Amino acid sequence: MTICIQNGTLVSGDRTRPGDLLIEDGVIRQVGSDEEILAAVGPGLSGDRSIDAAGCLVFPGFIDGHTHMDMPVSGTVTADDFRSGTEAALLGGTTMIVDFATQDRGGTLHEALDVWHGRADGKCACDYGFHMAVTDWNARTRRELHEMAQAGVTSFKAYYAYDGLMLRDPEMYDLLCEMREIGGILGVHCENGPVLDRLREKAVAAGHTSPAWHPRTRPALLEGEAVSRFLRLADLAGAPAWVVHLSTADGLQEIRAARARGQQVLVESCPQYLALTEEVYDKPGFEGAKYVCSPPLRPQADRNALWQALENGEIDILSTDHCSFNFKGQKEMGQDNFTKIPNGMPGIEHRPTVMYTAAVATGRIQASDLIRMLAENPAKMFGVWDRKGSLTPGKDADVVIYDPKADFTISAANQHHNCDYTPFEGFRTAGSVRDVFLRGIHAVQGGALRRTGCGQYIARKKMR
Ligand code: MN
Ligand code: MN
Repeated sequence: MTICIQNGTLVSGDRTRPGDLLIEDGVIRQVGSDEEILAAVGPGLSGDRSIDAAGCLVFPGFIDGHTHMDMPVSGTVTADDFRSGTEAALLGGTTMIVDFATQDRGGTLHEALDVWHGRADGKCACDYGFHMAVTDWNARTRRELHEMAQAGVTSFKAYYAYDGLMLRDPEMYDLLCEMREIGGILGVHCENGPVLDRLREKAVAAGHTSPAWHPRTRPALLEGEAVSRFLRLADLAGAPAWVVHLSTADGLQEIRAARARGQQVLVESCPQYLALTEEVYDKPGFEGAKYVCSPPLRPQADRNALWQALENGEIDILSTDHCSFNFKGQKEMGQDNFTKIPNGMPGIEHRPTVMYTAAVATGRIQASDLIRMLAENPAKMFGVWDRKGSLTPGKDADVVIYDPKADFTISAANQHHNCDYTPFEGFRTAGSVRDVFLRGIHAVQGGALRRTGCGQYIARKKMR
């Protein structure tokens, strides 16, 4: 079965050019002009099916390296499981996610990986892999890291916040040393959890219980401090460092300092920190709870700094931190106390359109710059560059046809997340995703889901 996507503008991280793309047996066979394709494959392979992409941009499938599906949090479970979450992902052009399997204290990494496979296998609409969050550092965990790499888990996560998840500094240091041994990469949630817990206790004791106190008790300097601590330990250990969901100018300064020292720092931010500000927490009633995520949304000055970093090429990947809870019944658990609001927001469906609209349609960056952050860099960081991340012959035919002229307004009423609100309600996008191919399967057609459940587990290689 061959498919030819014709007359589009092909965009990868390194170049943009008009041309056609030929898919054969789920793999990209050739890209280029009609003549180039004919010369490369001969007249017999013009495509059993042809798809007209005139006026559209043709992108490699997007990779979201930071999601939480079917995850228990604060006595409830995320609104999206792997089925609904990956269907929303695919409709937005995301053809692979890397979700966080998380070790239980007292449990093993193998047990956590088994649990997450049980939640995801057979359900996913797009391809998927797992990072492993390490929460219990001991001799067995150390040995298991090597076995994880064998099982295709080459990236890990640790927390500087949250009881039950966080590691102490010596453990963080040991884990970083081990990363160097196995060629793995460690991402860290950088907030000084014990200190912000103190701020939260003080706020509640003083009767400050509304969602507006969420950002006030998670100040920027506690992100900057944790980024600094993480990067200095990574320097000591000689390991690369992945700063997840960067949200502040303070953290960015620490990253610049580490890079100036010669460290390899991989920086992730998210659409919500670029498109929204903390003013949303002052919405009337309990509305602000919809935006309770950690780190919180920040003031305009931080947002400006992140935009400057994005334009400078200082941000490597844009992920969602998709972690959805319904407003009714879930966010409402914190109606009398903001510390009881489950942390997180939906976003996996809208990352590409929000960022295309805010960054490319406004002329801040080129489409190829965006594709580096949505596809190429995550593919390299998370060890799937041999298969994914660009429109290159031999790679998986994960392909997005994007119509930049389509007029679309994001709303809870038209989203596919299993969630009763979206933080981007009313956001008017420049264009929308028209068609998506997953390893050559025409899974989204005319903006509608045609095939689901086709996602495969991807055993990942080391970062390159
Ligand atoms: Mn986090
Ligand atoms: Mn997260």
